[in-house]
Amino acid sequence: MLSLGIDIGGTAVKAGVVDDEYRIVKKMSMKTPFGDSEKLFGGIAKMAAKLADGEPIGTIGVTVPGSVSSDGGILDAWNIGLRNIPVKRIIEASVKADRVVVKNDADAAGDAELAIGSLKGVNTGLLITLGTGVGGCLILNGAVFHGGLNRGTELGHAMIDRGGIKCGCGHHGCIETLCSATALKRLAEIAVDEGRGMIAQKAAAGEKADAKLLIDCAKAGDKFASRLFEEYVDSLADAIASFVNVFDPEVIALGGGVSEAGDFLLDPLRRKVPGKCFFGSCGSIVKAAAGNDAGVIGSVI
Ligand SMILES: [Zn+2]
Repeated sequence: MLSLGIDIGGTAVKAGVVDDEYRIVKKMSMKTPFGDSEKLFGGIAKMAAKLADGEPIGTIGVTVPGSVSSDGGILDAWNIGLRNIPVKRIIEASVKADRVVVKNDADAAGDAELAIGSLKGVNTGLLITLGTGVGGCLILNGAVFHGGLNRGTELGHAMIDRGGIKCGCGHHGCIETLCSATALKRLAEIAVDEGRGMIAQKAAAGEKADAKLLIDCAKAGDKFASRLFEEYVDSLADAIASFVNVFDPEVIALGGGVSEAGDFLLDPLRRKVPGKCFFGSCGSIVKAAAGNDAGVIGSVI
């Protein structure tokens, strides 16, 4: 029986056939339509049919970038413009499968990290994904913790800057406003507006002022970019230290686009976080290992 994983992201919907060893053996993707559930789930049903190619489907897993109700519906996914959508019912009606699973995307990534990635064998751990937003999940007693009321954990919306920048969730000063790729993009745009350093030069030459450009310029040793990156790392270290003080995790895994900076991001965090922690030390800080496919793989677990 086939396992199909569908990962609905803010920009793309990734789909794949996942084998028994959690490898993706066949994949497809489509652009995520905004605020149009008919188009979204119609597209997903088509991809599922193509991937299955006539074979019976055992499990189809769907991840959504937002909160999920206990009966498998989207409670709220503002970044794809959907609220109160009965995802599980729609999938059951459009795709023939023995089992339909609907999960929050960060929880699915946590399941993938537990099964094959950097949290394998970990009892208490944290996964923090640094992408367009900041997501994440908490591993307690060796399993993803889904929240006391089963709404998941919104690590990115813990507040670290009272009265700070307005967050997409409507509140101010959430971790997401300072630690996402979007936050790095905002800093890069400041460099462009002020005409400072390599970021401004490269943007003037046609490069996009985004997180990657800021990190590349900081890596190249540009002073202003390095200062902005340090500011970002400080905020992220504050956020991680706060979680360490509450959960004392054995492993803190960082995923999402920003984590692609690798040791350039991890090394300063390993230096800064312990000093900000109550304990004066913390568990290991590592890069998440399941990578871009974590959502697709984790959705079927
Ligand atoms: Zn928020």
